[in-house]
Order: sequence, then structure tokens, then C-alpha cells
Amino acid sequence: MHDAHIMERCLQLARLGAASAAPNPMVGAVLARHGTILAEGWHHAAGRPHAEVECLNAFGDGPVPEDAVLYVNLEPCAHQGRTPPCADLVIARGVRHVVVAHADPFPQVAGRGIERLRASGLRVDVGVREAEARWTNRRFLTSVEQGRPYIVLKWARTSDGFLDRHPREGRGVHRISSAASDVLVHRWRSEEQAILVGGRTVENDDPALTVRHVEGRQPLRVVLDRADRTPAASLVYDGSVPTLLFTAHPRTDVRVEQVITPLDADPLNTLLGELHRRNIRSVLVEGGATLLGHFLRRGLWDEVRVITGAVTFGAGTPAPSMPQAPARCIRVGNDRVELWVHGHNPEDAWCW
Ligand SMILES: [Zn+2]
Repeated sequence: MHDAHIMERCLQLARLGAASAAPNPMVGAVLARHGTILAEGWHHAAGRPHAEVECLNAFGDGPVPEDAVLYVNLEPCAHQGRTPPCADLVIARGVRHVVVAHADPFPQVAGRGIERLRASGLRVDVGVREAEARWTNRRFLTSVEQGRPYIVLKWARTSDGFLDRHPREGRGVHRISSAASDVLVHRWRSEEQAILVGGRTVENDDPALTVRHVEGRQPLRVVLDRADRTPAASLVYDGSVPTLLFTAHPRTDVRVEQVITPLDADPLNTLLGELHRRNIRSVLVEGGATLLGHFLRRGLWDEVRVITGAVTFGAGTPAPSMPQAPARCIRVGNDRVELWVHGHNPEDAWCW
């Protein structure tokens, strides 16, 4: 009867890794007895101990009580990765009962962890708070199950529906959203492994695409510019953060890694395939209108996040419009922030 409650705690612990666990999944583990928590752990980052190890280490060397239950939001691993298999540790430590939210689709695990536990006589219950757990690890699961990064489209629009003004008064951003939303956007950046923009956005707005307003990891900056329109002096080419340029021809005037994408190749397929090959589980697409339109028209998105500011431009580039109502809407300062989700019950989308 404590299962759902303690699994919720596992998910809270798992989410402590929101800005550090990728490309690994976010995992939390709790050892409990009659609903009382004995020890907790979570997975901090690739190469660091898995959540089960952290939890059992936190419990200490003493014998695990026979009636203790180990809760983990993801199936314990059964493969030798950078760390030994957790299933073996769980068995060796004398745990008799394990509760997991869902199996791990990762090909090297895929049910083998649960099988190994059961083969050693442990009771294993699967499916507690599964929807929330799948939502928590939606980036990892999309990557493993669909072979592409989880795609978040994001744009800011004025209250009269424009992405930007034109004609432009030189390079530089015309502010749409408030300072409070900037903090939110920087947190969003820190939680995805890559940020993508089109060449025109770099040409027009010269964004740095870095995480500055919150503590967090810098995602890979990705620029799709097959028309060679991005100036070499753009902030994205300043060398401060790893950056990947998809270009039709090699550029000798910029010193970032380049992927040659011929004009007759499908740029989105090339780009998503290359990011997936690099183990990048998620990408935040920050514009502009043309690139967002390509993703939207092909239905290639998992989430859309739209910030609507209080300002009006009267004219300019129209923002894309979404045919359905958003799943969620919140207020941030004077802005409205809306969320659309694909493939998840909006009721699971309780946490951004
Ligand atoms: Zn493990």
C-alpha cells in the first residue's frame, strides 16, 4: 500500500539528475521497510554509480532486513557497463523484494535485469507509477525506442502573434518575453543535450544559445545553415561551448565542428540521425519560423512550448499556430507559457 507513495519519492530523486544524468536515464532508488525509508540514492551522471548502488551504499554494510523492499523507477541493469550489473548487487545484498515502475528498453537490459532477479527467487513487481516514470524519462525512452532525439520546439510570440519584427533594425533581438521567462528558458536549455537553430536566426538575432541564468550543463549548440548565411563573427562560433554546424560546403572561416549536408539531402533526417549517433537524447529547437515549420509540418516533435509576451509588434513574421488547445498553461511574470505534448497523456505532463 506504500508502493505508489515511495515510487513517487524515487521519481523525485531521479529528477535531481535532470541536468546531469543524460545520456543515461534519470533513476532514483529507495530502500524501505513497512513504508519507512531506510536509504535513498539517485544516478548523478554517466560513469557515476547507478541509483541502486548509491542507495545500498547509503544503507551501509549491515544486513538488509528480510522484509525490506527496494524501489527503483527503472529496471535494474543486468549488463556490465562502466559499472557492474545492479541486479547482481541487489541479489548479493540479500534484497528479497524489488518494485520497479517499468522495464528498461535499452537493448542490453530489456527485461534481463528483472529475469535475473526473479531467477534468484526475488519478488519483482512492475508497473507502479509507470506513466509518471515514463514521462520523467521521456527523452531516454524516445531515443532508445524511436532511434531519434526527443524533440522540443520552443518559440516566443507577441500577444498579437508575431515571432519578430521586420524589416529588422539591424542585428539584435527585439524583446518579447520577460526576465522571468528567460530564467525558465535557460533551465529548459540546461535540461536538453542540444539546442538547434536555423541559419536565419543566427543571422538575424545572433543568439549565444548558452545557459547563463541558471546553474547547469551547456548543451551542444547546433546550427543548420546550408546557405552559408551565418557570419563567422556570430556568437555561436565564439568557441566557448561545443558547437556543430550542418553546412552544404566546408566553412574555413568558422572554427567549429562541421557536418557536410548536401543540398539534396533531407536536412532534418541527416541532423536527427547525426545527433542520435552521438548519443544525444534530446534537442530543443529554438527557431526560426522556417525551421520550426519544417518540424511541425512533418509532425516531428514531442513537445511544443510557447511563451506569449505582453508586447505587440503590429507586423512581422507570424508565429506558427497550433491546431489544438495546449495541455498545460502557466503564467510566468507577465508571460503566458503553454505546453503541447505528443504521445503522452497530458495528465502525465505534470512537470516541466
Ligand atoms: Zn545499474
